[in-house]
Amino acid sequence: MSVDTLWSPMDLSAPPVIRLSQARLSYPTPDGEIEVLSGIDLSVSPGEIVAVTGPSGSGKSSLIAVIGGLEPLSGGQARVLETDMTAETERGRTLLRRRDIGIVFQAYHLVPSMTALQNAALPLTLAGDPDAQAKAERMLERVGLGHRLTHRPSALSGGEQQRVAVARAFVAAPRLVLADEPTGNLDQRTGETVIRTMFDLARGSGTALLLVTHDPALADRCDRTLVIEGGRVVT
Ligand code: ADP
Ligand code: MG
Repeated sequence: MSVDTLWSPMDLSAPPVIRLSQARLSYPTPDGEIEVLSGIDLSVSPGEIVAVTGPSGSGKSSLIAVIGGLEPLSGGQARVLETDMTAETERGRTLLRRRDIGIVFQAYHLVPSMTALQNAALPLTLAGDPDAQAKAERMLERVGLGHRLTHRPSALSGGEQQRVAVARAFVAAPRLVLADEPTGNLDQRTGETVIRTMFDLARGSGTALLLVTHDPALADRCDRTLVIEGGRVVT
């Protein structure tokens, strides 16, 4: 058994951090609307680590976008943390994301002009936290980058950039982190370091983690797996 699965702080009796009920998402295209999520039901408990797998184009990133408030639902219900996403304005969804949700993307999405420390501190800086720098420094030390504080993304390897992105996702102690193929651009070993860091941080703080991955072995290390095909949950 791996260290990841030895202990889990998840509390299945607490209200879910994510509850989707028949969630739908359509995108407008020149040929009319296309539906990419066709009625997703999903409940994720506090501290739970859930893998999301499925073929390319099945709607995994769209699901992350809906839960992270980046896209509004076109039907159904979505409660994320204590917020009814269907009733929120775009501004409200942005504030929820900033305050309470960390997101890690495949392509890192760091701000090129900022140092590792500034990038990792960003959610706290935006929230006006006076201890932003000190907290970000501690978080970068936890992800093994205490010696890279003043480097800009262009001076960091892919694995280091992704660890900065992980530090940024966790720095504000969110109850939910969304990760969309976070190791998709990394080699096996580097990816494993990033994954271990994310699992340690999530397990250590009881943060729920929704992890999109194509790697069946990685999905097996999660508490459970959600398989999506054609915008629907198949298992
Ligand atoms: P996955 O992450 O599983 O590969 P996506 O959620 O990215 O899948 O995409 C699901 C479907 O939605 C695909 O058919 C894709 O082409 C389409 N799609 C994604 N984003 C948009 C968009 N902004 N406009 C129109 N179609 C989109
Ligand atoms: Mg995707």
